[in-house]
Amino acid sequence: MLLKIYGKGRPFRFFVGGLHGREWRDTSSVLMNLNMPFSGSLAVMPVVNRGKYISTLESGYYHGIGKAIVDVVEKYRPDIYVELHSYSKGNFCKLVSKDRVNKVGVPGFSSLEKGVLMGSVSPHIRREYFPVEALCLTFEIEKDNARSGEFAACILDVVKGCDSRDDFIEYMMKHYPEVAKKAIEDYKKFYGL
Ligand SMILES: [Zn+2]
Repeated sequence: MLLKIYGKGRPFRFFVGGLHGREWRDTSSVLMNLNMPFSGSLAVMPVVNRGKYISTLESGYYHGIGKAIVDVVEKYRPDIYVELHSYSKGNFCKLVSKDRVNKVGVPGFSSLEKGVLMGSVSPHIRREYFPVEALCLTFEIEKDNARSGEFAACILDVVKGCDSRDDFIEYMMKHYPEVAKKAIEDYKKFYGL
């Protein structure tokens, strides 16, 4: 899988897109337009896998079609990790539902702007491969919505400019306080803090 690395040293940020099926069509160009961070490194994998659709919530994903992600994570130990996914408008309610935690074991997404959703990454990679202090995020772009992709690009630029989890929390508290509070609560529940 193509991996582009900009800059050098820490913090090390790793952004991935096109994780399964046809998702790359909506996510990869957003990642390919990113460039050099002000400090540290940014690694970008615009397409992880274009084959079969296997959910990242399935235990086999990161050992199978998503293994290229784990290889990079093990090699570089990212401080910040972002997955860029896409969803069909019809699934919006399911994705942001409070019930999601009971149904699929992960908290519902928060809605930002222009159909872009934010949430945590699959426990299969979060727990196994990242320390507690790492920042791990998923952004979901609404399929076939150019404005959603544009907004995701802006948010990724913000994450690219962050040096730590605290930097990002500070940004979120200022711009999306409700989303920030929910993210912190979900995170504490996840780690039993
Ligand atoms: Zn996806």
